[in-house]
Formats: sequence, C-alpha cells, structure tokens
Amino acid sequence: MGDLETTREKTEWTWGTQTFVVENAAISAGEDTCAMLLDASVVPLLPRTLQSPPLGPNPPAFFVADAGTKGAGMFAARDIPAGALILVDRPVAVVPSNVASPWKREAFDALLPRLSQISRGRLLALANCKPLSEFPLVEGIALTNASQISLPVPPTATPQEYGGVFPDISRANHSCGLDITVKWDLVSFSASLYALRPIRAGEEIFNQYIDVLAPHADRRTQLARYGFTCMCVHCDLPDAAAVARSDAARTELRDWRHLHPRFLPWSLDACRSDDTIIVSNRRALALIEQEGLYGMQVPFMEEIALSYAVMGDESRFCEWAQKVVDLCVGQDPQRAAEFAGWIADPKSYKRWGWRAKQKLILDQQKDPADLDISIPW
Ligand SMILES: [Zn+2]
Repeated sequence: MGDLETTREKTEWTWGTQTFVVENAAISAGEDTCAMLLDASVVPLLPRTLQSPPLGPNPPAFFVADAGTKGAGMFAARDIPAGALILVDRPVAVVPSNVASPWKREAFDALLPRLSQISRGRLLALANCKPLSEFPLVEGIALTNASQISLPVPPTATPQEYGGVFPDISRANHSCGLDITVKWDLVSFSASLYALRPIRAGEEIFNQYIDVLAPHADRRTQLARYGFTCMCVHCDLPDAAAVARSDAARTELRDWRHLHPRFLPWSLDACRSDDTIIVSNRRALALIEQEGLYGMQVPFMEEIALSYAVMGDESRFCEWAQKVVDLCVGQDPQRAAEFAGWIADPKSYKRWGWRAKQKLILDQQKDPADLDISIPW
C-alpha cells in the first residue's frame, strides 16, 4: 500500500491551453517515489490511495545481465510458462509525450531532485540513447525507456499521452516478436509483465518499442530514434526473399479482419463449410508462430474454440478453450473466467451446437418445427 500524497512544485509551465506541474508521489511503504510532470487538471483525478499491486513471483522470475552489444538485458531465471506473470513494476517517473516546448529541459530536470535517493538511483541507472547536448537527462532517459500509460482524462482538458519510466520493465531489450504483454493498472499504479509463450530458463526476455507489424524497413526507421539497428531473429534475415516473406506475413496479419472470413457470419451461414473459420484461423496461428507474434494468438484461438462450440464438438472446444484460459489467466482474468465457465459446462455457452442444428435441418430435410432453431442471441 502507498498513498499518492503529493506536494505541489510551485513552478508551473504552460503549453497551449495546458498547465503542467510537477507532482511527487510516494508509491510504496518504503522509499520508492515517482516524480510526475502532469497536466494540472489530471492531478485531482489521480487515486489518492493506491491499491496494492499484484504480488510478483518470489524469488524473481527474471535477472538482469549483460546482453552483449545491446548492453544490459532481462533474462528468465527459470522456465516461465505461457500466460505467467514475470514481474510487477511501478514507475519512477511519469512524463507527457509529444510536448515540444522551450521549457522542457527545466521541467524534466525538475523531476530528479523530487525523487528519493533510491528511486533517483534506479532512474539514473537506465540507458539513455539521446545526446545530453540536445535532450535534458530525464527526458533522454524517458525517451529511451518510457512505456505508454493511461492516466485519467479531465472532461474539459486536451487529452494528453503519458509515458511511465519503469526501472525493471525498462531492462527488457527490443525484439520484433511479441513474446510478452505489459498491463498498466492505474488503481495500483503498477504495470505487470506477462509471458505470452513459454520462455526457457536463461532465455532473454524482450519487449516491443515500436509497431512490430510494420514492414522490416519501416521498423528499422522507427528504431533509429533509439540509436540502434535491430538484429533480432525477426530482422536478421538471410536474404531479400526472407524479408519479403516476413513482411507479407505481418501485413496479412495486420489486415486479417478485412481479408478473411469472420466468425459470426460463418456461424449463421450453414452453406459455408464447417471448418471455414478453423482453417482460416489456423493459418493465422501459423503466421503468428513464423513471426514470433505470440501476443496476437488469443482472438484466433477464441474463434477456433467457439467454432467447435457452435458445432457442438465438446472435446475440441475444451482443448482450444483451455489454451485461451492458460494465456489469459493473469493478463485478462475476466476472459479466462468466461472460458473456464464454458469448459466446466459447455452447454452454458448460449450458441452451443446451434450450427449443428441448422446443418441437421439442411442435411435431413427435417421439418423445422421439430427443432428449436431460435437465434439464441
Ligand atoms: Zn527486429
């Protein structure tokens, strides 16, 4: 537990119609603090008493070690199953994104003395890929490490994006796969990092700094602002043909919903093949595996499970629904609980077997009055 007790810095900075102030938050019962540069109208909307964050694994599931030319990196301390919580982290700094103003150096640097010694040390230990001649120190570290977080939006103010600087999460280097997901939780002022595929002990744990569905050349351009050329397994490809294959797969996944059959129309159309969605979504899962984009799996797995549900195939439904539960149990517990409920009682799914009933009418030319085919949604 920690109170978001704040003391207002007297200095204020204006940007257009916005006024920014420095707020200082005690974010734990210990000496961890978080210095924030915020639109003043956001401050009263922040939770005054923070909920306890989820408990991270103990002993920790990760360690920080040398990652060669990339500097430090995050590694798995033991085998981590898909869906497992890897760590929970609270920010040491919160800064506005996309505020280009003359007072930036002064305002960003005003955050540093507001931190406890421990938090300041954790902030300053992070990498800075920006030259000090062009960027203030805290902004350079924020631009290198910050992850987008959502803060309350005042009804009358300009929506403002913010980045949080997380001392542990920031240790993960970039890769153009999607092996993990980070969930921000305002009420506990914490971010939780979950594995989306099994990660072996000693394997490096990567985060994503950019849009990884962008083509190879665009990713290189986007990563230039971090001052490195990505040599991850998805970028370090043997030839132009491999790059074209990867780009085609990522583009197809990005545009999937516009190009491929959808679950709901299929479930209502008995003239379409039973395996339409299953075949289509298995192709998506193959492309996801090829490109290491594991963060995209769940919606496709869900639709495969539900395809078996509307066909009334209990064993295959349970097999696929369990995959959804395993991946979502930490990062999306509501969805996990919904599928777990259907596994326990498949017929509680309101469309259970409905497509099978439709097929029966067509196949056997039965009198529809014999069957209940009322649309159950
Ligand atoms: Zn890459």
